Amino acid sequence: MTKDLYEILGVGEGSSADELRKAYRDLAKKNHPDANPDDPAAEERFKRISDAYDILGNPEKREQYDLMRKGGHDPFSGGGGGEGFGDLSDILRSMFGGGGGNPFGAGRGRAASRGVSQVEIEIPFVTAARGGTVQKTLRLPVTCHKCNGAGGSGRETCASCGGAGRISSGHGLFSTMHPCANCGGRGYTLKTKCTTCGGAGEINSNEKVSLSIPPGAGDGMTLRTSIGGNTVLVRLRVKKDRFFTRQGRDLFCSVTVSAAQAVLGTSLMVRTLDGKVKLKIKPGTQPGTILRMRGKGVVHNGVTGDQLVTVVVKLPVDLTDDQHALWTKVREAGS
Ligand SMILES: [Zn+2]
Ligand SMILES: [Zn+2]
Repeated sequence: MTKDLYEILGVGEGSSADELRKAYRDLAKKNHPDANPDDPAAEERFKRISDAYDILGNPEKREQYDLMRKGGHDPFSGGGGGEGFGDLSDILRSMFGGGGGNPFGAGRGRAASRGVSQVEIEIPFVTAARGGTVQKTLRLPVTCHKCNGAGGSGRETCASCGGAGRISSGHGLFSTMHPCANCGGRGYTLKTKCTTCGGAGEINSNEKVSLSIPPGAGDGMTLRTSIGGNTVLVRLRVKKDRFFTRQGRDLFCSVTVSAAQAVLGTSLMVRTLDGKVKLKIKPGTQPGTILRMRGKGVVHNGVTGDQLVTVVVKLPVDLTDDQHALWTKVREAGS
């Protein structure tokens, strides 16, 4: 039973989105539990097909999956000798969030394959919404300059794991794989370790990077970039804004007006992504009214959202004698 997502869908790794969709549709139809009431295994197959398409049908997830696959890292290792027994969807969940077993780690850290690292950066709300460039200093693994990545000299195949880098413990169905402690999972030992990198072949270094953020970037979005020959997956965390919140392309905010302004109407300067813009409050605007500023939202894939402004009316408290007299007059005048 394969765990390769492309094999599950019976397509090549270079297949287009359309080919994937078609393969998925055909297989899902064929294996749908409703169409196979006498085949209890159909449900399991159907689930695997859906899980596979969930990843491969999503360009971002597919890219991450491809990277791990090509990086020589088997995303599904740990299942023993190839035939794993874990539930596919559990493994996928752990790969793509949710679980604690994300191979990227919770924050920054190295992915399992050399040359691919994952970092998380925080970007301002407005930069995410409008797009732009951010400069960051990232701590990234780079090839050790002293040993050129060799880690030292006198390389020998690890005697404990025989070069596999992993050791299994337990028996049969219940065996699990662990990274080899003797060689640190590298599969070889070194007679003389490089003093700069301690044998790892790479060192962490502060790299100044300039990242281009696409307009409409969302919280959790992962950008792929190349830094010093290494692929770096940069996960974005969008900072909260004091004024704006965002849902997709639309921006939300609120403005506060006085009772008199709401009753008589007024105009206000309201912050937008492009600076302040005049907003008219019509006479008789009710508290909680939502005004739509068209085209003032986030541009994403060529479509622009709106800015939705909730009008909050602040009623006066602690009235002066004069104000009290005036409000009494208002009450007596009715309405
Ligand atoms: Zn070993
Ligand atoms: Zn070194």
